[in-house]
Amino acid sequence: MTSSLPTIDQNFLQTFLTDLLNTPSPTGFAHQAIDLTAQTLKSVLPEGSQRLTPKGALTVRWEGDTAEAPRGITAHVDALGAVVKEIKANGRLKLSRVGSFPWNFVEGEGVWVHPAQGEAVPGTLLLTAASVHVYGKQAYDAPRDDDHMEVRLDAKVHSAEDVRALGIEVGDFVSFEPRVRWHNGFLRSRHLDDKAAVACLVAAAKALHDAGLRPAHTTFLHISNYEEVGHGAAAGLPSDLVELVSVDMAAVGQGQTSDEFHASLCTKDNGGPYHYGLSQKLRGLAEKYQIPYKVDVYPHYGSDGEAAWRAGLEAAVALIGPGVDASHNYERTHMEALLATTRWIIAYLLTP
Ligand SMILES: [Zn+2]
Repeated sequence: MTSSLPTIDQNFLQTFLTDLLNTPSPTGFAHQAIDLTAQTLKSVLPEGSQRLTPKGALTVRWEGDTAEAPRGITAHVDALGAVVKEIKANGRLKLSRVGSFPWNFVEGEGVWVHPAQGEAVPGTLLLTAASVHVYGKQAYDAPRDDDHMEVRLDAKVHSAEDVRALGIEVGDFVSFEPRVRWHNGFLRSRHLDDKAAVACLVAAAKALHDAGLRPAHTTFLHISNYEEVGHGAAAGLPSDLVELVSVDMAAVGQGQTSDEFHASLCTKDNGGPYHYGLSQKLRGLAEKYQIPYKVDVYPHYGSDGEAAWRAGLEAAVALIGPGVDASHNYERTHMEALLATTRWIIAYLLTP
């Protein structure tokens, strides 16, 4: 007989994740996604005690069977994006990237520019030499860099003054259209890193609450808003945590064991190895509950777990998450990976 875990509300997971993906949240401008997560957690986990940190992260203290050896689980809602660097004389916008990605990953993507006042203005991120009929070879050969990429606003603007009349200024945030699409269990969208994991975490909390259960140990849920620039979980976690599980996407690609149908345990990334004992414990839980999982090493990757460590957290830190293909690009995962990750979080929460 296999050990069983509380049932996951798969419709909830899918609906909440879709809403979260459709909520713009470039790092530094993630307040709407934090608000949505806070409201949702309030309804599915009313016993959780919420706090918004001054930096804008959400923390939830969830009383467990014991207050001894408190634990943390962190995932991030902030995503890649940009800010307006310059308003050009021709009414186009030059951008500065937020987070790390090559420009060709978003070339041709729809964007929203978020002015300080008023409605967001839609547009498209294009190469400056965007038409083959006009620019010929340049359209193929131009480097995809800050000087050769620009936003074309969906507004009648022909000058910097026209743009400023819309309320748009240097420093305004720009978000990318996520293009969320579900099909046969597959989910493609931008920013599955790391909204997929946030949805798994919230779905796990709901599963416990719905089953009338609580965690074995008092647990702090930390929804980070600055992960993509490296210091999300550097603040906001209690200093007496003994364990921290970072839930973030698994890197799928050539040479990786991770895929879109499993959750992964990462034993080492760019920031070095994770905690051996906690990693082995998570592996044991995956075996015990027959959770589809892989063990992997991510070559160009850092997590909020490491941010917490660098900031001085004493806790053991480990990393798990759903496999995401083409990360920081137009990403894709599968419901199987989301359910595996959610079950893994549930097993961890319930195990002393
Ligand atoms: Zn991430």
